[in-house]
Amino acid sequence: MRQENELIRLEHVNVAYPTGTEALKDINLSVQKGEFIFVVGSSGSGKSTFIKTLLGEVQAASGKLLVAKHNLSKMRRKELPYYRRTLGVVFQEFRLLDDRNVFENVALAQRVVGVSNEKIRRNVLQMLEMVGLGDRRRAFPKELSGGEQQRVAIARAMVNRPSILLADEPTGNLDPNNSWEIMGLLEEMNQLGTTVIVVTHNNEIVDKLKKRVITLNKGEIINDEVQGGYIQ
Ligand code: ADP
Repeated sequence: MRQENELIRLEHVNVAYPTGTEALKDINLSVQKGEFIFVVGSSGSGKSTFIKTLLGEVQAASGKLLVAKHNLSKMRRKELPYYRRTLGVVFQEFRLLDDRNVFENVALAQRVVGVSNEKIRRNVLQMLEMVGLGDRRRAFPKELSGGEQQRVAIARAMVNRPSILLADEPTGNLDPNNSWEIMGLLEEMNQLGTTVIVVTHNNEIVDKLKKRVITLNKGEIINDEVQGGYIQ
């Protein structure tokens, strides 16, 4: 049954690569506004493909995909940049620009969508304060720890206030302390109303946080439940 607050809906979605690999098979999924979801599964189970499909980087061979009122199955290429503004993305390897300082890395996300300099300054400084890096705004990525770099990446992902934040193994390169801090930040973004989807291998974090967990295996959803809670 479709619900009013539904933000993402996938019906019978199949994704295959040109090599013939069926990376996602008959995916059915409904995500409500404001949810926090972990996506888990062994290597090769389709987690990254799932994220890439939501980003519109990979096209579904069949099925229906509705994300933030956009129909991905019918979307034209030129609509993609506009659609992507509804999404923030964080990657395992941070993907910051090494030749720009922290402020500029975050500001760039606003510049490309044409925000005025005055607003950029306000929004970026506010985001950097939020991730605890207000005083490091002039530092370059190489001068920061992994945890700090990931904080910058989160600020960059969130500065345009997307409705969905996708994180692909955001703690994969971090030690346990930094991993917990980054998860804490993602929870904070979630509490502010952002729907958060996190691909992770970190079982300890998944077990402790008691969120909805979607388990993929060989391209299929084999489990979808709230840890320690009710079955979806
Ligand atoms: P995970 O993120 O869970 O490790 P992936 O989504 O990366 O899984 O991969 C799912 C399946 O699709 C695997 O069998 C993988 O080898 C295959 N695959 C991933 N990317 C490509 C690609 N660009 N071309 C062909 N096959 C791919």
